[in-house]
Amino acid sequence: MHDYFQGVCIAHGFRIDAFCFCPHHPDYSRCLCRKPCSLMLQKAISRYRIDAAQSWMIGDKERDMEAARGAGVRGFLVETNAPMSAAIERMLRE
Ligand SMILES: [Zn+2]
Repeated sequence: MHDYFQGVCIAHGFRIDAFCFCPHHPDYSRCLCRKPCSLMLQKAISRYRIDAAQSWMIGDKERDMEAARGAGVRGFLVETNAPMSAAIERMLRE
């Protein structure tokens, strides 16, 4: 899935530097990296020296937008299962 997504991004002229995910299932453990918490985003911002004010968090759930707010990045809500290329084109227009 990451390879596919990276390919779509490259076709649109940019690339993803890193893919991050929470490995903790909420039925078995609690953590601060699972959305709507924003620790995972905050770690990426620090690790890759990202300018949060110039960044987007793309997601299809309100919890994604909440994590974006917590990390100080702009949230970009897309429709669940919408074509990724359409979401990227819409984001680039806004
Ligand atoms: Zn986690």
